[in-house]
Amino acid sequence: MAKLLKAKPLADEAGGLIKTQVQEWKEVGIAPAIAVLMVNGDPASAAYANAKGRLAGKLGIGFELLTFEQNVTEAELLREIQRLNGDDSIHGILIELPLPAGLDSSRLAAALDPLKDIDGITPANKLACMMNEPGLRPATPQSCIRLIEAAGIPLSGKHVVVVGRGETVGRPLMQMLLHLNATVTVCHSRTADLARMIKAADVLVTAAGRLNLITPEMVHTGLTLIDAGINVNQDGSGIAGDAAPETADHVAASSPVPGGVGTLTTTILFENVLHALKLQQDAGRLQI
Ligand code: NAP
Repeated sequence: MAKLLKAKPLADEAGGLIKTQVQEWKEVGIAPAIAVLMVNGDPASAAYANAKGRLAGKLGIGFELLTFEQNVTEAELLREIQRLNGDDSIHGILIELPLPAGLDSSRLAAALDPLKDIDGITPANKLACMMNEPGLRPATPQSCIRLIEAAGIPLSGKHVVVVGRGETVGRPLMQMLLHLNATVTVCHSRTADLARMIKAADVLVTAAGRLNLITPEMVHTGLTLIDAGINVNQDGSGIAGDAAPETADHVAASSPVPGGVGTLTTTILFENVLHALKLQQDAGRLQI
């Protein structure tokens, strides 16, 4: 039976450390707080934003949810981002994605203050990720790496296959893994023989958003499988990852969905808030 890589113990442990640090910031007169911008219309976005709000409350972090009607203009959102960039009581800003068609998420991301960009989506933080320089890294790839390391796998020298080259997960993850000295193969929708790539891997991270993309025939018993995919089950009954459920019985270890990457991602987002505070302090922007 494969080992199940549950994220909750890791999230609980990280949450405890965050709480302590939040308290330390409060003792020097800084109340850590974030703002989330969300455009109405996507039920999943609303669920994710509310989950962030609940966790912020548990961790003692201030949380402001700013919701906009679907007909909001890009100019209005840009104005709001500028306001939050200049608001000293807000230390992290997040744009809940996806946005409705007609709103350019790259332009909005580029307007964020890089020191408040807690999901690492600004050009400055993307460059820092690519160059392995200080900056804020996206939470989901960090969560994938944390799960691999918690499985007791030293990444240096390991062959990691990443399925998906998306901006949120696959692409930044590839860069972060390279900086950890893994050998990385990135696969995507045009990869000719996905199964052949996976057979040669020590670790598989799948972030494609395709239900049942990974099947038992494609994996092997020495493989660690990290499933970052989030898909709605065919019958609409909850969520599942990219790997078919029976795949977990044919690998050495695997992370479940739900209860895996996503569970840890939100906590890591709040670690990023603390990291953002440190960067703001180093830049002389906090009144302590
Ligand atoms: P994305 O930008 O849509 O990228 C999806 C990637 O998957 C693309 O590179 C695509 O290839 C590839 N792909 C699609 N079908 C494929 C196939 N049949 N074989 C191989 N590759 C295939 O998505 P994303 O934003 O990176 O997100 C990826 C997944 O992670 C989604 O399920 C998303 O919900 C999930 N996610 C999870 C978390 C979490 O916390 N757990 C957070 C964020 C996102 P092409 O480039 O060739 O099109």
